[in-house]
Amino acid sequence: MRRLALVLALLVVVAQTVAAAEPAWMTKPLKADEAIVVYLYHSGWLVRTHSHVLIFDPVAAPGQKILEPLGVPPTALAGRNVTVLVSHAHSDHWDPSILGWVEQVPGIHYVFGWELEAKEPHVCLGRNRVVTRMGGVTIYNVHHAFDGIPESAFLVHADGLWLYHAGDHSHSRGAKDKTFRDNLSYLASRTHHLDLMFTPTWGGELYAIRVLRPRVVFPMHDGGREVQYARWASRSEVAAPPIVVGIADRPGRRFLYRNGRLRRAP
Ligand SMILES: [Zn+2]
Repeated sequence: MRRLALVLALLVVVAQTVAAAEPAWMTKPLKADEAIVVYLYHSGWLVRTHSHVLIFDPVAAPGQKILEPLGVPPTALAGRNVTVLVSHAHSDHWDPSILGWVEQVPGIHYVFGWELEAKEPHVCLGRNRVVTRMGGVTIYNVHHAFDGIPESAFLVHADGLWLYHAGDHSHSRGAKDKTFRDNLSYLASRTHHLDLMFTPTWGGELYAIRVLRPRVVFPMHDGGREVQYARWASRSEVAAPPIVVGIADRPGRRFLYRNGRLRRAP
């Protein structure tokens, strides 16, 4: 009898562990026009679409592990189509420890926005605008060096959704900067609509929004000062319709995107 009680107790622990490893936002079936968006920290986001998991510029919040805001370890992503995209080598966007996810998530893809010297056969993008197709995801890159090092911004097509992660592609001179302007024109020419846009807010983002016409915008690059996202959203140029803003007030904040609309995800 005591053994039976022990077995039952163990089963409860196992069930709780499985439940903890697979939260609802990870298992909820998604249609082709749906996505779950999770703010990790700073410029770091995870986007889950119908059949893909995209992770952009993942870095850790102070005192946390990189994926801790998800509530699951990297191993929970095993068996999914995971693509990690890193815009550039500054430490607020790139943490080399993420290469270790290869061990925990077999088949994971990495795309780097510069010519990183890596032993693994990762995709490393240079100055050229190329179209990268891998594992059912299509990626268009644009190059810049606004901050003195080579960087990319990414336009991604996955499961019918179009996403733009700007990295640090933002410019105080906005449309007056030729590279900034040309890059956005090029990206706008690749797609007739944009679902999700992730952008820093130190300049040029309103011009980028006008050019790319995203359905939803997520301000970013204020890790630790997330209150800035709400402040940006309340600016009169942004608050006026039709810009829908996803305001991440803390790491781990989740959103459900469905056909142009946004709401808090469970
Ligand atoms: Zn940065």
